[in-house]
Amino acid sequence: MGFAVNCPYCGYFDTKVIDSRDVNDGIRRRRQCLQCDSRFTTYERLQPASLFLIKKDQRREEFDRQKLMTGIRKACEKRPLPSGTVDGLVDDIEAELYQVGNTEIPSSTVGDMVMARLKKLDHIAYIRFASVYREFEDITMLKEEVDTLASHPIINSAGQLPLLPDEDLPLTAKPPRRTR
Ligand SMILES: [Zn+2]
Repeated sequence: MGFAVNCPYCGYFDTKVIDSRDVNDGIRRRRQCLQCDSRFTTYERLQPASLFLIKKDQRREEFDRQKLMTGIRKACEKRPLPSGTVDGLVDDIEAELYQVGNTEIPSSTVGDMVMARLKKLDHIAYIRFASVYREFEDITMLKEEVDTLASHPIINSAGQLPLLPDEDLPLTAKPPRRTR
């Protein structure tokens, strides 16, 4: 194994592995310094292969967790969401992306994953994200999206705020069906 670990005691560059075992998502190795004989343990996490997003114009861009986080955070700004919601969302999406196992994923797939989750979470955040991501070309497209949402309000325990100010939705009961 060409994994270089300096001895934490004397700094020597070479160690021998005296024991290794798989733990969860990594390998735990018991090592011994070849110079001072000190023993110590390292924990090597298995790094998933790099993930690349294929943009609309076919450019390849390495998946950037921070960038995804920033985009979602912006959309959720000042929304009444429990703290940790955005981090949870990003963790969730990242895990799913790596689980797929492909090293290249269309960036539109990631966008759709975010939208699907925001749609269930908070309509305002969803609309904000969608308007950036889908690049609504005019106000009509945006209105269509809002109308669709308004006819499918979120009713959850967190108490989704009504999308439009004049909507007075009960928090637990199903809203009356609207005719379109
Ligand atoms: Zn040493």
